[in-house]
Amino acid sequence: MAGAAGPRGHCVMIDSLIFHGWPALLNVDLHCHSNASDGLLPAAELAHRAAQNHVDILALTDHDDISGLPAARAVADEVGMRFVNGVEISIEWGGLQIHVLGLAFAEADAALNAGLLSIRSGRIGRAQRMASALENIGIEGTFEGAMRHAENPHLISRSHFARYLVEIGVCKDVRSVFESYIVPGRPGYVEHQWATLAEALDWIHGAGGIAAVAHPGRYKLSRPELHDFLDEFKSLGGQAIEVVSGSHSAANIALFGRLANEYGFLASCGSDFHGPGESYIDIGQLAPLPAGLTPVWEAF
Ligand code: AMP
Ligand code: MN
Ligand code: MN
Ligand code: MN
Repeated sequence: MAGAAGPRGHCVMIDSLIFHGWPALLNVDLHCHSNASDGLLPAAELAHRAAQNHVDILALTDHDDISGLPAARAVADEVGMRFVNGVEISIEWGGLQIHVLGLAFAEADAALNAGLLSIRSGRIGRAQRMASALENIGIEGTFEGAMRHAENPHLISRSHFARYLVEIGVCKDVRSVFESYIVPGRPGYVEHQWATLAEALDWIHGAGGIAAVAHPGRYKLSRPELHDFLDEFKSLGGQAIEVVSGSHSAANIALFGRLANEYGFLASCGSDFHGPGESYIDIGQLAPLPAGLTPVWEAF
């Protein structure tokens, strides 16, 4: 018997369509942030919100940090929601900051933890350089100000600077701060050494996880550069690509769905929810994956 579609992003199971042990229509969100990185909500609260929004499978994917996983998993266990370990690793490729998701890895893996620690340890120095750059254009005290917004000081990020600049009235919202001050070419942006693509994939694979390109529609890559990146990702053993993302347009979804099949990548989907009022869409409110793709959760 076929179930009717529920509210946006939530689908009722169709009993007759079961593949690889997963019901065919699931509400899956494999990309979101807690205040262990630059999200606004504590990990437990985020997991509760996901459950309230009828998420069936959730991955918490904080930037370069996995300290929120136990609290989110505890809530997921309590409410009967499937939980998958996740992380969003910051890498540098071709002069750009790119994000690679690690999914379903063993969180105790020593090399993964050491690798994430090595990326985190550069963030404080980078924040000090950002603060100096902003001071040069007359905006003072931003290191301390941004730090007050960072629940996890080791994960000080541009988002925390943006929130502080909104707090002191420099811009009306976070997005405007990014556009005017802290993206490449703007006065508060500083270069930084992140992980390499090969390192990030080694850490994820060494811990038994699946690597997925996060929000590929957001990078300033020409079409040939995008292919170069995906070729390299594939040759290093990368398995998946985010097709549906909170920041993807319908055209992005169509393009990356096509590329997923062309490259033989599994298809992932995630809201990239950071908090109420600061995100493209809420957790668990994604459009479904286009037909004809292999969902990444088949590999979990
Ligand atoms: P960081 O890891 O410190 O470089 O910060 C990157 C984070 O900043 C991303 O994960 C997003 O949460 C946020 N971000 C990047 N670009 C923008 C933008 N244009 N508008 C709003 N937030 C952004
Ligand atoms: Mn972020
Ligand atoms: Mn990202
Ligand atoms: Mn993200």
